[in-house]
Amino acid sequence: MITIFKPTLRCNIRCTHCFVGDQRTAYRDMSREDAVEVLSRIPAGSELILHGGEPTLLGVDYYRDIFAPYRGKFHTSIQTNLMLIGDRWVDFIGNDLGGRMSTSFDVAASLRPIDTALWLENVQKTQI
Ligand code: SF4
Repeated sequence: MITIFKPTLRCNIRCTHCFVGDQRTAYRDMSREDAVEVLSRIPAGSELILHGGEPTLLGVDYYRDIFAPYRGKFHTSIQTNLMLIGDRWVDFIGNDLGGRMSTSFDVAASLRPIDTALWLENVQKTQI
């Protein structure tokens, strides 16, 4: 089973095609308690994709906390726009997620207004 886990719908950029659209700031993030409860209901061995919004907005410690009771239960990856990737995220993606990460890039800045140089730099950082 594949579960797309969306603990936040907030995002730090605004892609014109994004389905979250104008609702992005209207949602609350999932609390750690609710996240732990949701994860308890997902079958062991499932593939879990951390998604959003931008999942890195919640910080590395959020994910370390909510996954603490479930070490080895899931095959987890993260979909991220890479704008917030720093050393702690590189460590988390490499060691906790086994390097399983996906990202996407639109050449037309009008669609996905990200910092191209930063995105490329962070792609390099996460080639673990
Ligand atoms: S980075 Fe993803 S979540 Fe954020 S606005 Fe773009 S498509 Fe939506």
